[in-house]
Amino acid sequence: MTDKIIKTPEQWQQSLTDEQFRVTRQAHTERPFTGIYWDETSAGSYRCICCKTPLFSSETKFDAGCGWPSFYASVDKAAVLEKRDISHGMVRTEVVCAQCDAHLGHLFDDGPEPSGLRYCINSASLDLAKETL
Ligand SMILES: [Zn+2]
Repeated sequence: MTDKIIKTPEQWQQSLTDEQFRVTRQAHTERPFTGIYWDETSAGSYRCICCKTPLFSSETKFDAGCGWPSFYASVDKAAVLEKRDISHGMVRTEVVCAQCDAHLGHLFDDGPEPSGLRYCINSASLDLAKETL
């Protein structure tokens, strides 16, 4: 793991759209079924929109029917950090990019086998690098 990427909000704002900035830097949640990747089926690597670190693979993506891209595993346990989130009157596990602290989404324990996990991620936090065959 290399050093953390630290930028000011102004610097992030310059490299992101308003929606991407709100989600990744202010922990907003995009409206379900509005993001660009919730029903994406292409093969490839989902990278952090902020720092381009690979976070999830299309191989672990599944349709959770929730309107957000869902994965049952991250590419590397060290790539995604888990944080306790008690906002909105709920106790949830927030997941952030380990490299740049971008808010990604939340982690739930109702996913499919083999992990039983469901990473519920905002499309706005991701950048899909499609595999070209
Ligand atoms: Zn990142």
